[in-house]
Amino acid sequence: MDTPGRALVVFAHPDDAEFGCSGTIAKWVQEGAEVHYLVCTNGDKGSTEPEMLPERLAPVREAEQRAAAAVLGVKSVECLGYPDGELEPTRAFLGQVVRAIRRVKPDAIITSEPHPRTYHSHRDHRMAGLVTLDACFPYARDHLHFPEHMRQGLEPHKVGAILFFGGEEPLEFVDITGTMDTKIRALYKHASQVRGRDIEELVRKRSHEIGERAGYEYAEAFRKIEFRR
Ligand SMILES: [Zn+2]
Repeated sequence: MDTPGRALVVFAHPDDAEFGCSGTIAKWVQEGAEVHYLVCTNGDKGSTEPEMLPERLAPVREAEQRAAAAVLGVKSVECLGYPDGELEPTRAFLGQVVRAIRRVKPDAIITSEPHPRTYHSHRDHRMAGLVTLDACFPYARDHLHFPEHMRQGLEPHKVGAILFFGGEEPLEFVDITGTMDTKIRALYKHASQVRGRDIEELVRKRSHEIGERAGYEYAEAFRKIEFRR
């Protein structure tokens, strides 16, 4: 797959992008792409510690997310701050994703699979994918949607393609052999999530299984939709 000039990654929780697509992000950045993040929730329910409180966890997770993005060379991180588990396909959320698309002007967008058929995913993952897909077309493209953006100097934008991590067949494979170590380093920045787990072994094993299907040592795989020009 061609490396986009600019990409926007929209995802529900701090760490989703690092697990789902950070090998691809690091590769694209190395090849000269400008990559931006839009993080939809603050991840404030992501703990098994009985004493943990959402208001204590949220700032920790934002700091972890910013550190992971820095490892990958991501250019900007915008956090919408919805409570974890409360992401809904509202008009307000749609407008925020449309605004990010009109600001970044990405050739490609990566987000989570909105319609998994063979497994169940976190509701926030489905909502992030669904709203992002709709934001690409028609809302970010057509100037009569969210006209207040035009008054603020943001132009309509046509996204070229959307890639879903966690997607099902047919899949588009990206060789991440050269950026596997960077992916692991980015994942370990999410200390609150990976503590006590052998994430490296797990991620290498999964990425290798995906890679074997495409003739790569390690790969990430996406379902892809291209938008007509
Ligand atoms: Zn998640």
